[in-house]
Amino acid sequence: MKRRRTIYEGKAKILYEGPEPGTLVQYFKDDTTAFDAKKRAVLEGKGVLNNRISEYLMMQLQAIGVPTHFVRRLNMREQLIKEVEIIPLEVVARNVAAGSLSARLGIQEGQPLPRSIIEYYYKNDQLHDPWVSEEHITAFGWASPQDLDDIVNLTIRINDFLSGLFLGVGIKLVDFKLEFGRLWENEFMRIVLADEISPDSCRLWDIQTNEKLDKDRFRRDLGGVTEAYSEVAKRLGILPESAQGSGGPVLVR
Ligand code: UDP
Repeated sequence: MKRRRTIYEGKAKILYEGPEPGTLVQYFKDDTTAFDAKKRAVLEGKGVLNNRISEYLMMQLQAIGVPTHFVRRLNMREQLIKEVEIIPLEVVARNVAAGSLSARLGIQEGQPLPRSIIEYYYKNDQLHDPWVSEEHITAFGWASPQDLDDIVNLTIRINDFLSGLFLGVGIKLVDFKLEFGRLWENEFMRIVLADEISPDSCRLWDIQTNEKLDKDRFRRDLGGVTEAYSEVAKRLGILPESAQGSGGPVLVR
């Protein structure tokens, strides 16, 4: 196979030069890291599952009019995406207390929040992705007030939509992380959803048992990481070997 130029290699994905200008190929690795990459593992099949889950969620979001970088899935591990200028923020939306919010503010994990909360982290490995406010973001020019306005509105829509989508398959969307990019079309710029949405970037709990179906299984050494990711895929109806064999989402009452 022809060697492709690597544009960027991250912890869980690689971006290659795309087939035409303005496109990239996003490759999902099996590598998993946590705690500033101090904890590492290779989880066989994880990249394949995240590629499928992220494809599905991005397409559902596009169907309700959320602009994304996603074009189409190319194969088991790769998807074609539009090249965007990544905004250096991790945008976290939370519905239930967990993770760093519980640790920082002493709110018990699992407690529903009085309302959904959006937080921002500055994407910078050397600084360990510090928590920042809108003031920092606009003062340092990481995003303009207009960009932030778009980011907040999109994040609220995405949270509402995905909360309902997951609820329908018996999963509580506890929190998740999004990344956005600037997409230039002639002289016009649009903020679009980028990166991925998968159990690597979401907390997903079974609605009945609160069993974790996400990367916390890896962070907390709970085992069964890829099994949990494939359970998410099965419930979303995107694994052909779904127990129900229906091919559609599995409604859980
Ligand atoms: N998250 C992520 N990448 C990061 C940090 C967080 O995808 O670099 C996700 C994480 O999986 C969770 C949400 O963002 O769904 C909130 O994470 P939190 O701030 O609680 O941090 P953590 O406990 O993961 O360190």
